[in-house]
Amino acid sequence: MRYVADHDYHIHSTVSLCCHDDSQTPEAILDYAVKNSFSSICLTNHFWDEKVESEADWCNEHDFSHVSSVLPLPQADGVRFLFGAETDMDFNNIVGISRERIDLFDFIIVSTTHLHLDGNTVRKSIETPEEAAFLWVDKLDNLLKKDLPWHKIGIAHLTTGHILKGRTHEVLPLISDSTLYDLFGECAAKGMGIELNMKTIGMSDEQKEIFLRPYFIAKECGCKFYLGSDSHKASALIGTKDSFEHVAETLALHESDKFRLNIN
Ligand SMILES: [Zn+2]
Ligand SMILES: [Zn+2]
Repeated sequence: MRYVADHDYHIHSTVSLCCHDDSQTPEAILDYAVKNSFSSICLTNHFWDEKVESEADWCNEHDFSHVSSVLPLPQADGVRFLFGAETDMDFNNIVGISRERIDLFDFIIVSTTHLHLDGNTVRKSIETPEEAAFLWVDKLDNLLKKDLPWHKIGIAHLTTGHILKGRTHEVLPLISDSTLYDLFGECAAKGMGIELNMKTIGMSDEQKEIFLRPYFIAKECGCKFYLGSDSHKASALIGTKDSFEHVAETLALHESDKFRLNIN
């Protein structure tokens, strides 16, 4: 059975400081889920756990009291609205969530590709595709060495524009197939989710070759995939379902390729 676009596990609300749309409330997000017949959605605001020490200049406004201020989340018949968070790895590869806090969330996505945050995820600004490609690999490799409850961990937007502004297409080809097979083989063994976030509608064949190669390799390795819009504003939710269906179809995914959260 072909992959059904029935969820969105990467959504921000006004609690994320980079969300500048006052209408992006949990209620509006739930309404988006109902209208698109999603069976589950997850709110994943940016989070750096204040219990995790870091040399980075994190803004402590994304601490636990801040991200949990959305609770309780509104619910509707047929939709499970899950409480998650998007956390980062600092430039020392420390992951921004403590084990005791992980237990308080339904799902945690970790971004290894926010390479635009100088002073936080990277020490200094990344200027070249070579530096970005090195960090793309190194951060994912370091994440995989952590002791995390992988069944509730997802990896955010691996082919995002944040890798190198306007030049991500120059970075991804520098990562070899064999490196990708090694990394995704490990991801598959751990059972974590791989996020599908990019918009494939209207992509040229050349772009598809660059941006989809990692996911085709991940699929071959047996990785499981979840959909994430990474919406920060209400207007970004429009057309999301079509976009999800398109990427799943382009990658020829089946229901057996779906990452599933075991939520009681
Ligand atoms: Zn992100
Ligand atoms: Zn995000």
